[in-house]
Amino acid sequence: MIVASSGWPDLELLEAAPILVWRSGLDGLCNWFNASWLAYTGRTMAQELGNGWTEGLHAEDFDRCLEAYLDAFGRHEPFQMEYRIMRACGQYGWIVDYGIPIIDRDGNFLGYVGYCFDITARHEAEEKRDHLCHDLEQSNADLEQFAYAASHDLREPLRKVAGFAALLGKSCASKLNDEEREFLHFVLDGAKRMDEMICDLLAFSRVERCGAPLEPMALGEALDYALFNLSQTIEEKKAAIEIGFDRTLAVKGDPHQIARLFQNLIGNAIKYCAKDVTPRIHLDALLVPEGSVTLTVTDNGIGIPPDSAEHVFQLFRRLHTHDEYEGTGVGLSICRRIVERHGGTIWVTPAEGGGSVFHVTLPR
Ligand code: ADP
Repeated sequence: MIVASSGWPDLELLEAAPILVWRSGLDGLCNWFNASWLAYTGRTMAQELGNGWTEGLHAEDFDRCLEAYLDAFGRHEPFQMEYRIMRACGQYGWIVDYGIPIIDRDGNFLGYVGYCFDITARHEAEEKRDHLCHDLEQSNADLEQFAYAASHDLREPLRKVAGFAALLGKSCASKLNDEEREFLHFVLDGAKRMDEMICDLLAFSRVERCGAPLEPMALGEALDYALFNLSQTIEEKKAAIEIGFDRTLAVKGDPHQIARLFQNLIGNAIKYCAKDVTPRIHLDALLVPEGSVTLTVTDNGIGIPPDSAEHVFQLFRRLHTHDEYEGTGVGLSICRRIVERHGGTIWVTPAEGGGSVFHVTLPR
């Protein structure tokens, strides 16, 4: 915090200081600049005195600075402002200016002393960062728009392929030999799989576009919704699901997306299990002191090799063929996108005794 200084500081000391210093009097006009200031602007004391120094002020910063100065001056309060000023080299430099009101021992206001530092390098770095962030946001938005449009428009012709192939199969059923029937099956199966991939791609692109606002929500409710959607699979595979956390535990989230996260992780835990093994899935949650929750979904499935632990979260990346385990390779990409939208992280590690543990951190 900057506070008022009692009495004028020693000008001789400030004259030699490596920072830029100015002084103004009761009329608000500048009546002194130190050597560093004059060297920085490349101007003489006579040129800078009064309002002369404002000739070097960037036009875009002029009104804002004048307003801040006059406002602080009127109330005899300290101020801090950043502005561009013309340097001796002919280019603008950014400086931060700390204005300190000077009050004498009797409490009388005498004027101001300002201490300034060059922050051009910081501003340039910030500008570069903002540019990069903007470009990144733009390319993300473009990609989402592309994925949405492509997946939306691709479904229409695909529906025609599947529909007419099915009609052909029906009208020619008696004339087709076994090989031709198998070809037709490939066409229909291919169309079905492509439709599944497009639907998942659509869901992936909707995570950002169509997400609801993040609000406090109980994890138990989202979990119930996911388990309801998976009830048929759970029953068929006789999967055992243990829940080791308080169902009222709250996070800041989009309930539909958190339900989808549970559904994808539990669905995978059931699917990627050896044929002769009953799936056992344990869900747990740990409160992390920094104000987040770490969820874990542990299974007794076929496991994920550590060197593929990152790949499985990439779009369309699968470790198995469609004949071994059905799927599109989009489920975990959706999980990661959901978790990142919530400001969290997701990763997988091997479980003790085989299987996998998916870890998810979510802010509370
Ligand atoms: P999909 O299940 O549709 O293939 P995912 O993105 O959900 O797509 O998963 C990507 C890949 O990660 C899967 O193909 C599978 O090889 C592997 N995988 C996902 N979850 C598990 C799990 N619980 N145990 C073993 N392998 C898994």
